[in-house]
Amino acid sequence: MFRQRSGSNLCYACGKLNRADASVCFYCGRRNPGLWGFGPAIGRLIGGLDFAALVTVVAITAYIASLALDPRAALTPRGVFDLFAPGGRALIALGMAGAVPWQAGHWWTVLTAIYLHGSLLHILFNLLWIRQLLPDVEEIYGQARTIVIFTLSGAVGFLLSNAAGNPFTLGASGAVFGVLGAMVWYGRRRGGLFGAAVLRQYGSWALILFVLGLLGMHVDNWGHAGGFLGGVLVALMLGSGDQRSERGIHRVLAAACLALTVVAFALQLWTAFAP
Ligand SMILES: [Zn+2]
Repeated sequence: MFRQRSGSNLCYACGKLNRADASVCFYCGRRNPGLWGFGPAIGRLIGGLDFAALVTVVAITAYIASLALDPRAALTPRGVFDLFAPGGRALIALGMAGAVPWQAGHWWTVLTAIYLHGSLLHILFNLLWIRQLLPDVEEIYGQARTIVIFTLSGAVGFLLSNAAGNPFTLGASGAVFGVLGAMVWYGRRRGGLFGAAVLRQYGSWALILFVLGLLGMHVDNWGHAGGFLGGVLVALMLGSGDQRSERGIHRVLAAACLALTVVAFALQLWTAFAP
């Protein structure tokens, strides 16, 4: 059912048609062009996914779990910016990133922390941006590359933040900045009226958000800058839809990003909760 053994399918590298059982692509010479028959299933999985909805569901689930793990801390009234703020220990247990977990060897927190948030406003703000931006990025880069840009730029943001010595950090903002970076890069590279409009729109959003971050307290500016750079880098390496249409290799990378995120949560929950 998941594995295609007969007929023909597309080479993941060059996108041309080969027999399903071909061991080498007839056109580009790549080995296992149909990914052992799993290529079409990966394509269906990634193509049929509503990634913005998936991010929303995972982030809200993680937020509710972080509140439920320590209800007293969550209900302690502080300021409006800390309304319904999960306790620090609950966030650490669920995979908050930062120099402290990084030095403890918990590398996977650069992925889990993308889905964790420190207050009601924090999660609302990030989810609104995600729902606003992801459809645009999907239109330019396609579904698979959007998943890769979001995941890797979030991780690059946390890596830079860890390197800067930030003890703890969390949130999808780095990934949001990555998506902005990918759009800015696209606008700059494409040029023309449309490119200039994209560059102006997304560049000013990135600038406003970054300056707001510099003015605010407890904002991970390294994470924002790193996310933006990560988004530009991934966009640079993968190209956008007008340069290169989405191919199997992009879907394989997207599936790898999703699988790595699942592994990251599994490692985190095992480390925090296994007896
Ligand atoms: Zn090929």
